[in-house]
Amino acid sequence: MAGEAQADCLFCKIVSGEVPADVVRETETTYAFRDINPQAPVHVLVIPKVHYPDAGTLAAAEPQIAADVLRACAEVAAQEKIADTGFRIVLNTGPGAGQTVFHTHAHVLGGRGLEWPPG
Ligand code: AMP
Ligand code: ZN
Repeated sequence: MAGEAQADCLFCKIVSGEVPADVVRETETTYAFRDINPQAPVHVLVIPKVHYPDAGTLAAAEPQIAADVLRACAEVAAQEKIADTGFRIVLNTGPGAGQTVFHTHAHVLGGRGLEWPPG
């Protein structure tokens, strides 16, 4: 059921501790850990502890937790000292956009110049 941990979900396993991660921040509703294949000097993934496949479904079902994820992104940026130089929050949605893990996650990227539009 939506919101419940999924046995076959990598990020649910990270939340439960079954799969290790380099955790940088945890709140009651969110978890933040370093991306295993970083695309910038700072590349952290911020996820809700509950399982929803993407940001839109999370926001529709649990708007407060979606807001918690965004707030945690800003807190991670401050903690990683990229808030002043600028950072990017990316929410890939769907395979065509490069989403490979179907548990909502926000990429927080910074520490280098970030071109716009993205490639
Ligand atoms: P996306 O392509 O937007 O679905 O992002 C999934 C991200 O998860 C990718 O950037 C991967 O490098 C990252 N990733 C995959 N497995 C792990 C892991 N075990 N720990 C941390 N990050 C991971
Ligand atoms: Zn999950």
